[in-house]
Amino acid sequence: MGRGAGAQVRAGAPYGVEDRATVATTRLYLEPEHGFEADARVVAVSERALAFDRTCFYPGGGGQPADDGTVRVGHDEPLEIVSAHADRDEIIWHLTRSSPVADLVGRPAKLCVNKARRLALTRYHTVLHVLNTIALRDYGGWITGVQIGVDQSRIDFKLDALSAALCAELEEKVNAVDDTRSRAEGR
Ligand SMILES: [Zn+2]
Repeated sequence: MGRGAGAQVRAGAPYGVEDRATVATTRLYLEPEHGFEADARVVAVSERALAFDRTCFYPGGGGQPADDGTVRVGHDEPLEIVSAHADRDEIIWHLTRSSPVADLVGRPAKLCVNKARRLALTRYHTVLHVLNTIALRDYGGWITGVQIGVDQSRIDFKLDALSAALCAELEEKVNAVDDTRSRAEGR
């Protein structure tokens, strides 16, 4: 589930690009004090996507789906962002539900990630790493697949035997780690 594990979409921007971005998008979500909102500038517009000089949107990868949210360009009505992905030039495209008008390049924009959804996804991502670590360490179970969602997530292991008792053990061990972490963080 590390970055670049194969899940990252690198399909380019098959939208009939009208204005080409030339510089990789600054990924604000990698910074320690990152937030869920950001001020940015539109650098490229395609039929169904926008690119900005910087973004707080996670473009998907490592099994974690891309963020959704909204963007407001200037004082226009907010546009719904349904997904995001990075192209081979590391430009992050924000897919819009409706077509953006073309003359947005250079205009200031306010990006806003769907925070509740992102937090649910990152929480699942973290707990699956804990589960993965324990399954491998204690049972020799190698991960073979993962699907991170908002309401539920799935992880696949190659195990010699799977039983209800083993599942209960795994659950107990994962929850023990989470309890320790909660206490450490004063939650
Ligand atoms: Zn991961």
